[in-house]
Amino acid sequence: MAISVFDLFKIGIGPSSSHTVGPMRAAALFVQGVREQGLLEQVRRVEVQLYGSLSATGIGHGSDNAVIMGLMGEWPDAIDPSQIGIRIETLRETHTLLLDGRLSVPFIWARDMRLIDENLPFHPNAMTLIAEGDDGELHRDTYYSIGGGFVVDEAQASSGVVDLDRTVLPYDFSSAVELLSLCQKHNLRVAELMMANEKVWRSEEEIRAGLMKLWRAMQDCVEQGLKHEGILPGGLNVRRRAARLHRSLQELGKPNVIGSTLSAMEWVNLFALAVNEENAAGGRMVTAPTNGAAGIIPAVLHYFMKFSEVVTDANVVDYFLSAAAVGILCKKNASISGAEVGCQGEVGSACAMAAAGLAEILGATPEQLCNAAEIGLEHNLGLTCDPVGGLVQVPCIERNAIAAVKAINAAQMALRGDGQHFISLDRVIRTMRDTGADMHDKYKETSRGGLAVSAVEC
Ligand code: SF4
Repeated sequence: MAISVFDLFKIGIGPSSSHTVGPMRAAALFVQGVREQGLLEQVRRVEVQLYGSLSATGIGHGSDNAVIMGLMGEWPDAIDPSQIGIRIETLRETHTLLLDGRLSVPFIWARDMRLIDENLPFHPNAMTLIAEGDDGELHRDTYYSIGGGFVVDEAQASSGVVDLDRTVLPYDFSSAVELLSLCQKHNLRVAELMMANEKVWRSEEEIRAGLMKLWRAMQDCVEQGLKHEGILPGGLNVRRRAARLHRSLQELGKPNVIGSTLSAMEWVNLFALAVNEENAAGGRMVTAPTNGAAGIIPAVLHYFMKFSEVVTDANVVDYFLSAAAVGILCKKNASISGAEVGCQGEVGSACAMAAAGLAEILGATPEQLCNAAEIGLEHNLGLTCDPVGGLVQVPCIERNAIAAVKAINAAQMALRGDGQHFISLDRVIRTMRDTGADMHDKYKETSRGGLAVSAVEC
């Protein structure tokens, strides 16, 4: 399975990669399929069935609205998030869905948007879409949103060939041991090895430009998060904090950091809060590697860019490439989906990725980089997914800030060592996978356990 840095980092919208970005992509792919078969003009009715976790917490994550937008032919990286609410309101008033942005079909929400409290065997995030014509069903497919905005359809799921990208990479690796051995053998840093792999898909110029575009999108997201105040949508009455915190930190002035990190941690908190509040409000953001955990990687990079004496575009590129190397290991050997392995797969993976990225640009050897990732992930093991009210707000927003600080600490601890460590990165990733398998379903993005139910009692 070949995974690119651009698979792990994608410009999208909030609040959830598996429950918003994935479902929108699935619906857009469905419509594309209908169109390509020449069936679009014959469609008279569309039915949406959301299963498992998409049914349990999909409303809080905007899965229903995301599917509708996808059916309208919208894609997460291009849609204007500010228009979604207005378009949904119009649909609900007129009972009319503009399929693929051009064909009007009746859509009665209570009848055609079905939440089914049942898990399909392949993955907890499942949805079936059905297009009917005058004489019955024209097309039907089931899609699984497997985390990080990745989507597979029924054919892929039942063939077992979930990843169709069979690209042969010059330095293919499936474990940290293989990654380290390739780095050693070819005398490469992790970022250099990743760049060589990425060049299979794109020119170096395109890779650098693409990564800088992601960085600009992350900066825009923080900027938006620092502007917006008030209450987050969804009904929990969670107040946005980033704008207020920003004002008070500006009054304090810039601390002297890198080497004395504690005084900068409030800024790290700020960057993460800004991103995750934007995400919770359904704004434009970068999936990194999921939406729920999207604040960690930008917060740590913002920290470096703000407090380092010398910063270059090359730092940004190396940061993303090295973080992606660890994301690939987590995705290949465990999961980055909260619905599959709990929050350890989302926040834990992002923490490990940010720690690896920061270690790289602070000059870590490949061994130190793996150590940084291992520390970052190890101290998130067992973390359950228990969003209150099914909204990506509590505990998700603060959890990103805490994990961003943890990632910086992990990178620093690793840089003080020689790269040798007691538990290997591979072993920690395997432990995440096994812990996730043992974890009760109620702790996997169903909002039926943990804080999600305790908070209701208070
Ligand atoms: S608790 Fe973690 S995994 Fe669950 S929605 Fe929040 S950030 Fe995602």
